[in-house]
Amino acid sequence: MLRISCPWCGERDETEFRYRGDATPTRPAADAGLDAFAAYVYERDNPCDWHAEWWLHVAGCRKLLKVVRHTLTHEIRSVSSLAEPVTLRKESGR
Ligand SMILES: [Zn+2]
Repeated sequence: MLRISCPWCGERDETEFRYRGDATPTRPAADAGLDAFAAYVYERDNPCDWHAEWWLHVAGCRKLLKVVRHTLTHEIRSVSSLAEPVTLRKESGR
């Protein structure tokens, strides 16, 4: 079972959250065309790597969170609010 650290409620069980989808797609420009919008809505990668996801804390604060999780190990690298940018790569030690 995943343990997700909500920035407002603290560490909670996965059962308190609902997965709400991939957080990486960016909305195409208004004049991008039907194919671009179809890809935005329906096409998703299935990575075996770090992945940014939306999780809704339904049994807590009911806020939408960005969770960066490894899809193979389920390790969670970061949990952030909507206002914070998502970083998929680890910062180098420079
Ligand atoms: Zn919460």
